[in-house]
Amino acid sequence: MEILSGVPAARGFAAGPVYVIHPHRLRAPGHKTAGSPSEEWTRYMGAVVEAKIRCSLYYEKALAEAGADAAAIFEAHAAMLEDPDLQDAIQEAIEKRYLTAEAAVEEATEFYTGLLAKMDNEYFRQRADDVRAIGSELAEILSGSLAPPIELTNPSIILAEDFTPAQTVQLDKSLVLGFCLARGGVTSHTSILARSLGLPAVVGTGMAILSVKVGSHALLNGCEGTLYIGPDADTQVVFEERAKAFRALQQDRKAQCHLPTFTRDGRRVEVAANIGSIAAAQEAIQYGAEGAGLLRTEFLYLEKTSLPTEEEQYQAYQTIADVFHPHPVVLRTLDIGGDKELPYLTLPSELNPFLGVRALRLCLQQPELFIPQLRAALRTGAGRSLKIMFPMVADLDELRQARQLLENCRGDLQNEGTPVADKLEIGIMVEIPSAALLADWFAGEVDFFSIGTNDLTQYTLAVDRTNASLDYLSSSLHPAVLHLIEHVTRAAHTYGIWVGVCGEMAADPLAVPILLGLGLDEFSMSASAIPDIKDIIRRLTYTDAKGLAVEALRQPGANEVMRLVLDRLPWLADFE
Ligand code: PEP
Ligand code: MG
Repeated sequence: MEILSGVPAARGFAAGPVYVIHPHRLRAPGHKTAGSPSEEWTRYMGAVVEAKIRCSLYYEKALAEAGADAAAIFEAHAAMLEDPDLQDAIQEAIEKRYLTAEAAVEEATEFYTGLLAKMDNEYFRQRADDVRAIGSELAEILSGSLAPPIELTNPSIILAEDFTPAQTVQLDKSLVLGFCLARGGVTSHTSILARSLGLPAVVGTGMAILSVKVGSHALLNGCEGTLYIGPDADTQVVFEERAKAFRALQQDRKAQCHLPTFTRDGRRVEVAANIGSIAAAQEAIQYGAEGAGLLRTEFLYLEKTSLPTEEEQYQAYQTIADVFHPHPVVLRTLDIGGDKELPYLTLPSELNPFLGVRALRLCLQQPELFIPQLRAALRTGAGRSLKIMFPMVADLDELRQARQLLENCRGDLQNEGTPVADKLEIGIMVEIPSAALLADWFAGEVDFFSIGTNDLTQYTLAVDRTNASLDYLSSSLHPAVLHLIEHVTRAAHTYGIWVGVCGEMAADPLAVPILLGLGLDEFSMSASAIPDIKDIIRRLTYTDAKGLAVEALRQPGANEVMRLVLDRLPWLADFE
């Protein structure tokens, strides 16, 4: 028996024969000499058109098979194919240095891959894989050397060096038992896809897996990150027992995910989804979401080349509200600016974008941007369960101005004879410490709070949430953040309004008992986390969770809080 270890990337167990996919080496271009610069540029542009067509085909396939998260990468690739810096570099190589289109693509994509891979920021490091993937797609099209089709004939565990998203999408998933990759990371596309499909995956095992004989019997443990080749009888028995228990648990969670959630001592908690597209709304229903606790409306603005009109917004919001009916949708108004740019909206560059003119600040400074969205939301609310939420509120005056603008829009629509929502709940995201500290004032003027723990943690601890080298400090379990949440929740309940959490923290198994104990009424998260989080809440009692929350507030740091939770509830380790 041979045991290969890697990093667990998608939980689950698979047993069966292995199928090894060797990397596709392109046919060498030989002695191809460059045509004239204009011929090479035309070839390049032709390849870009073909690559974009492929992206949209892959997008549709990934969306149908694995949902919005897995498909989103192909939208990113299509946008990257139009990246002006990349195009300029390729054009310069072709026109000034007379390179072939192939050589220019290779040179430019290698340069950007190298640049991105060295960055501190985890987000940019991951983009290196995307640039590499579009580089190989363009090279394949230009050389006409197509990767041989993957001919899977029976269910198998797939072993490969790494997969481009395009290769993963082309696989017949009904014959894939699991993935084991020599390279790749937990956030790579194959890992995301495996999680969306509910298949186990192990990554980073090293190149040895490419020498495994095709057809060898193997066991893949996606919880521990292990691949057993030719397992002995004892290993096989233990593995089968664990796999059986895991499947029973998964089935149980899936069966229960559509039911309302109560703690063991009867406290009801709402569990909703964070969504950012129509496709994600449909997916959220499958996972048992009781509404959308956070509709990130930026998607409508980011996928277009000009501002979406009131009518376009109305159509999209209406579709999403109808998907969730009779559950509510919390529509968050535009959270753009700062680090999230819209190419068609020129905003002054800022030294500290996270502290700059973003979200509600931008909308109040540019009402012509805000008004179509408010009107679309008011129209959607007619006869539907919609709530409006303002992001990045720092000061009471901002809330009052936004409400005034909303009331003006309501008046205009009524004068025009357009149906609008009679009564629409208005809330704020509590994600800036000033709003958390003045929660009593805000609670008197809104219908609900939703705590955005991603930004609240960023601003409380002064850690840039996109800077991976500060991950050690960036924990929502930090007692400073917990004290703010406790204060906000108490203020909300004193004024009789509901309070939820819509940051990543709501889906963190170790945070859930504390949030429950602090009295949160609603948890909103990525849809795929819902079955597990509902299961965790159902295993807890509100009484014990309250005791745990009190103890957590007394800890000096996030590590102590984590240790405390695992000490009291060791079974939570299985959910991590
Ligand atoms: C948050 O800040 O916690 C949040 C949910 O909003 P976003 O992640 O979109 O900034
Ligand atoms: Mg936020």
